[in-house]
Parts: sequence; structure tokens; C-alpha cells
Amino acid sequence: MENLDEIVSQLKEWYSRTPKHFEGAILGSMTTWPHPIGVYAYQLFIHVNGNDPVVFPIVQELEKELLATVGSLYGSRYGLFTSGGTESNILALFVAKRVSRGKSDVVVAPSTVHASIDKACLLMGSRLVKIPVNPLSPVDPDILEKYVRDYNPFAVVVTAGTTESGVVDRVKEASEVALKHDVYLHVDAAFGGLLIPFLHKHGIIDSDLSFYPGVSSISVDLHKNGRAPIPSSLLFFRDETYVGKACFEMNYLPSGMNCGLLGTRPGASLVASWAVVKAIGLEGYEKQALLQQDTALYLFKELDSREFVEVFKPVLPIVVWKSKLYDYVEMVKKLFEEGIFLYKSPSLQAARAVIMPHVTKAHVDALLKALDKIHAR
Ligand code: PLP
Repeated sequence: MENLDEIVSQLKEWYSRTPKHFEGAILGSMTTWPHPIGVYAYQLFIHVNGNDPVVFPIVQELEKELLATVGSLYGSRYGLFTSGGTESNILALFVAKRVSRGKSDVVVAPSTVHASIDKACLLMGSRLVKIPVNPLSPVDPDILEKYVRDYNPFAVVVTAGTTESGVVDRVKEASEVALKHDVYLHVDAAFGGLLIPFLHKHGIIDSDLSFYPGVSSISVDLHKNGRAPIPSSLLFFRDETYVGKACFEMNYLPSGMNCGLLGTRPGASLVASWAVVKAIGLEGYEKQALLQQDTALYLFKELDSREFVEVFKPVLPIVVWKSKLYDYVEMVKKLFEEGIFLYKSPSLQAARAVIMPHVTKAHVDALLKALDKIHAR
């Protein structure tokens, strides 16, 4: 029998050595420190299987409410709770394939699409045709239409907030293409879903995110800008029939079926997401989005005033820059040695900071100080 005290002291020791978002060093990841009410709810419902609504009816009730609240931003309340952006994207393409009989086995997407789309296509034995695009620009709708005409895909994917530069593909124009060619359009808004509606409302960005008539699904991660514990995401569909296509027969379960890619689903993160969304509210997310954008612009302006960097103006709170002294991989490594954790933007050969809800101007100042230090050598 293990000694629990020993295990606890070991865990505490590891915890003390594990970076925490609020300390300010985590500046590249799209994760954030979860809202405390989410942590509380998670612990309380840790035992709940989110895929058993007969034994645990609360999961179905709260999923419905969660979808209605967040979905009011885009104009749909149909969908399901998933374990993250990757599951949402795989599931969206799976549903697209199920509903689009008679089309080729191709998916068309701009080259800025997240790697989970490559993963989904690999898993389904589908071919992903990428449209080469400038990572700093949305896909040109005319070029998108040409690819749709040439390849007759069963699905098109665009991104509302690309991973490497935060660019927002034009959902309205992509929707027109999808409608005209009768093709399933999935919008990956894993990062941008809780930013774009608010930044658009305030005139900060042109593009909006909505179920325009040609949009079939939209994914939005709650464990990113939603401040819910990992793993939490929502996949919205334009109507209820699509939801059924994301479910499978599973006769041994009381409900006789199972929705999503997982079998047993973490019910705790669903309940926690409900609690966090209730606590923050859409007005809270709006304030947070404006604050994140303001901090991103602060970082952009500071970087822009330094001669030794080339920085790209952020669309969403993702700031990307290159050093005139170091290769980007070396710069990221040197900053890592200074205790600053950034990610890379390989398509732009640049470093990337993501201004998540936990990031303050003081954290940005610490990053700038480290950057100045490595360039002063
Ligand atoms: N889609 C986009 C645009 C992303 O940026 C990411 C992750 O960064 C994902 C999907 C995958 O999300 P997850 O890591 O939650 O699976």
C-alpha cells in the first residue's frame, strides 16, 4: 500500500515546478487558467459520464443550455459538447462525409488550416487539397470557388482565427461559395469563436462569424478563450439532423447511443463549462475580448518601436514577429532560456505570442525585457 502523504508531497513538489498561466511565462499556448467556478464544478462532477444522459440527465440539460447561450452569438442552438478543437474538427468532417453522398473524397481548405484538419483527412482516408495562401491574408473567395469547381469536394473548411497568425477567413463569402456549389462548409472558430462577434460589434474587425446560409458547422473551443477547464469545446450545426449524424448506435448503454468521437465523455468539463459561461456571461466575454485585443496592440506597438524586429499587425490577439538578429527557432529557444514560453509561426518563420485572457501588460513587459536582453548581447 502506497503512503498517500508521500504521494501528496510528491504532487505538491511537481506542482510547484509546473508553470502556471497567471505567473506570466506562458505566452504562446492557446490554453489559459480556468475560471475558479469551473474548477469547483469539475471536482463536484468528476464522476459523471457525459455520454450517459439516462443515469446523468444533468449533462443533457446543461449541454442544451450551453449550446443555446453560446450559440446565440452565431444563430444556432444545435450541436454537441466535445473534448476540444481537434475532436470538433474531426467530427465536423465526419458528418460532412456522411451527409454529402456522391461527391469526391476531397476536402478543400486554405493552407492556413489547423493540423487537426490534416489529421481528420488522414483518419478518414480523404484527400486534403490545400489552397496556397499568404498566412497574413484570408483566402480569396474567387480562388476558393475555383478550387471547389475543380475538385468537387465533400467539404470546405475555413478558419475564423488561424492558429499561426489569427487571420479570419471571410465566412460570409465562403458561405456564398458553399451555397452556390452545394458543399458542406465547416468554420473552425476554435480560437476566434469568443472574440470575433465582439470585435466585429465594436468595429475592430470587418469579418463576422455567423450561420450564413451556406455554413453547415462552426466549432468554438471553450477551453481557449472561454476559460473553461480542459477539455471543452462546442461543435454547432446549422440544424438538428446533423447532430444525429454525429451519434452512433451503442446498444449496451441505457440511451442506446453515443454521440461524438469519445465513448465515455468527461461530464465534469461539460458541467464546468456551463458554470463558467454562466459566471462570465456574454457581456463578460465581450469585455475580455476587448481587453485581450488592447493588450495585443500594446505588444504590437512596443515591438514595432524596436528596430531589431519585424512585427505583423494583429487581427485577433495573436502577435507574430521576426528578429533581424536571430532565426525564429533560435529566438524562441533563447526566450525559453529566459523563462518566456512562446510558440512558433513556421509559415511566417516567426515567433508567436497569444494574448489569452490571463495575459496582462505586466506579462508583456516581462517578455519585452527578455527580448531586449537577448538582442543586447
Ligand atoms: N483549430 C484551431 C484554429 C486551433 O488553433 C487549434 C489549436 O490551437 C485547434 C483547432 C485544435 O484545438 P485542440 O488543441 O483543442 O484540439
